[in-house]
Amino acid sequence: MKKTCLKCGHANESATGDPAEACPSCGAIYSRVEAAWSATPRPATANNVRTFSPERDELVEAFAERLRGESLYPVFRSLVGVIYVVWMVLAALAVLAGVVAAWKSSGAAAFGSLLLGVFLGVFFAVIAKVTREVSLMLADLSDAAVHIAARVRA
Ligand SMILES: [Zn+2]
Repeated sequence: MKKTCLKCGHANESATGDPAEACPSCGAIYSRVEAAWSATPRPATANNVRTFSPERDELVEAFAERLRGESLYPVFRSLVGVIYVVWMVLAALAVLAGVVAAWKSSGAAAFGSLLLGVFLGVFFAVIAKVTREVSLMLADLSDAAVHIAARVRA
């Protein structure tokens, strides 16, 4: 039978198939090299690399939702929601104030008011989104940490 050595690549045309048979080129025992070969982790290939399929994403999303539903910090989380709304209202008011001020004035002043209003609006909206994401991330981290700790002690 034909046996190709996994260590040196030598093709042995007259291999017997014996478990203790060694490669005539490098002396490696075929069965040992094969065992070592299957035990070592392969470099990532298209087949064995872990991909995030849509189903997996949904699973993660569902887990996050469940985690948030069972949160240890429900008051904090609802407070985050309220603060987010407040910032967004401020953003809307800033844009509105800019538009109204622009309406009442003329020329460069009108343009400046509009620009300032839009700038403040975007600024408040960004603050709203960033503070909400950071706050929720902190709550998620704390919840996840407690879950992990509980699982380790169980
Ligand atoms: Zn060999």
